[in-house]
Amino acid sequence: MRKKIVAGNWKMNLDYQSGLSLFSEIINMAKDEVIGNQELVVCSPFIHLSSLGQLSKNVANVNIGAQNIHQAESGAYTGEISAGQVKSVGASHVILGHSERRAYFGETDALLAAKVDIALKHGLTPIFCIGETKEERESGDFFEIIKTQLTAGLFHLSNEDFAAVVLAYEPVWAIGTGLTASPEQAQEVHQFIRQVVAEKYGQEAADNTSILYGGSCNPGNAKDLFAQADIDGGLIGGASLKSRDFIDIAKVFN
Ligand code: PEP
Repeated sequence: MRKKIVAGNWKMNLDYQSGLSLFSEIINMAKDEVIGNQELVVCSPFIHLSSLGQLSKNVANVNIGAQNIHQAESGAYTGEISAGQVKSVGASHVILGHSERRAYFGETDALLAAKVDIALKHGLTPIFCIGETKEERESGDFFEIIKTQLTAGLFHLSNEDFAAVVLAYEPVWAIGTGLTASPEQAQEVHQFIRQVVAEKYGQEAADNTSILYGGSCNPGNAKDLFAQADIDGGLIGGASLKSRDFIDIAKVFN
């Protein structure tokens, strides 16, 4: 059975101390309250990773991730961070393909495919984001757009490598806007994504792929979203900055 995952994306928020405090609260609450098999992943800014790695070392089901990596192994790339570096401080995951990186940092499908490769080489699990903009949804072409993002970013992978990837459907119009896809809208796309994966990698691989929903997910709407057959958890932005909300979302799977 595929994993249920609730991942937080802190984005460029929280100074060092605030991040440590929030993570300590998350760990304490998770120990007491998260009683299912769901996995929690906190994707923090780089500055926190090393300390969060220490704090979460012996905590089952709480992992940490980066929000980006460079596609090269190492070298003269001033200001960048490599897959090996984040792995060395305890990260197990990395968010790739987030719409903010596609839109504000010009990350293309080809670049993302290279980042996926280096992540996998270092044993990092990519949380690979795909999703349409408001205009793309209104144009009606969004299924094709999502299929292209999936194909161009991931379908060069072998079956074995693809099995290590987590997908996140994040309609761009729902990110940070307070507008959530309805459970039915989200399920329709998740089912489509699973079908596209099945056509490429087979039904068993598709059934084993965790597909998270992201976009203004909160404790109030998570239950109905996660009840959908093809929604295996969430990628949580704003609500992951509050320990109570993040844990309450994770507890949907208790
Ligand atoms: C995100 O940025 O991945 C996200 C889902 O943000 P929010 O939950 O704030 O919409």
